[in-house]
Amino acid sequence: MGQLSLKNVVKTFGDFEVVKGVSLDVHEGEFVVFVGPSGCGKSTLLRMVAGLEHTTSGDIVIDGKRVNDLAPVKRGIAMVFQSYALYPHMSVYENIAFPLRVEGAPAKEIRKKVEEAAAILHLENRLDQRPGNLSGGQRQRVAIGRAIVRQPEIFLFDEPLSNLDAALRADMRIELTRLHKQLGATMVYVTHDQVEAMTMADRIVVLNGGYIAQVGAPLTLYHKPENTFVAGFIGNPRMNFMPVNVLSVSDDGITVDFQGQSLTIDVDVPADRRAALVGSQVSLGVRPEHISLGAGDATMALTPTVVEHLGQLTIGYATLPGHEENFCFVLTGTQMIEDDRAVNVSFGAGDCHVFDADGQAFER
Ligand code: ATP
Repeated sequence: MGQLSLKNVVKTFGDFEVVKGVSLDVHEGEFVVFVGPSGCGKSTLLRMVAGLEHTTSGDIVIDGKRVNDLAPVKRGIAMVFQSYALYPHMSVYENIAFPLRVEGAPAKEIRKKVEEAAAILHLENRLDQRPGNLSGGQRQRVAIGRAIVRQPEIFLFDEPLSNLDAALRADMRIELTRLHKQLGATMVYVTHDQVEAMTMADRIVVLNGGYIAQVGAPLTLYHKPENTFVAGFIGNPRMNFMPVNVLSVSDDGITVDFQGQSLTIDVDVPADRRAALVGSQVSLGVRPEHISLGAGDATMALTPTVVEHLGQLTIGYATLPGHEENFCFVLTGTQMIEDDRAVNVSFGAGDCHVFDADGQAFER
């Protein structure tokens, strides 16, 4: 139980189509994260699953049953919001017990379920306190407790960690991953934070402008992004994209001219596309962490305008001729490079991605 299917789901507000035909199967027990920039429609999609928004068209199916017209409480889901939505005048115990009281559950059952949830969330010693006396992280755990006692088939989370500081967010990520293992429930989680997506998800759904840009396991998205949007969105600092001309295409891949050096990237190009590609411009993608000091398959001299020393990493930013965005490189450890002093950097052909004029990747 806890299987969710979205079938060509569309949502319009007035004339504005916010979700543009999303189809997706979430498997039982899976942790799926919807990620994307602000306004891409991820919260709207989650709210449609929850029953807080009507779908304009398409079907939402939970455990084989179309739930479009079912009230939220009848869907077997529980939702946790960014704002926690706790009742300030009630104790932690009463807050967690609230949905069970509304259902009219017997007092003994309520106590048992609240105590179980409090134990899972390490809130046993806080049950008598009011939310106002708790830290942000503890409040969010109370909100999660209120979802747990309902024993939903599917948990829905809408940016639950956004109000927490960085250290607490990191702790809560680990707690949520543990909770998912412990409960084995299906979880659908919305965030704009790619680190949350990468660390917690079994599969990530990257949304862009109401469409799914790619669905896949976190490392699949990192290593095999299907388009420039996903390539730029997953990974931090973001991938460098450089326009290059195609010299030739063969079974070995695409050979491009990178600053006068010929570089062959081992990607698959369908035979019927090869001739048209020769002489055209493609985008070469290289992640900052795949750049190193010294010579390699492709080497260039550059002068960083800014160098950030983080101790465990050294991050440099430079401007390349004919290139609008900052070119970024990340070196491990503390490297004695300085801004305004030229260095030689390089990257390997095996670390490169190639995207066509429409931003679609050639498969690696
Ligand atoms: P964010 O991370 O900023 O919350 P999001 O990806 O979750 O972004 P949504 O909240 O789903 O985005 O909103 C998608 C688009 O739909 C936005 O442009 C938003 O302004 C619009 N929108 C959302 N709810 C409504 C509404 N009730 N009426 C009109 N427009 C809406």
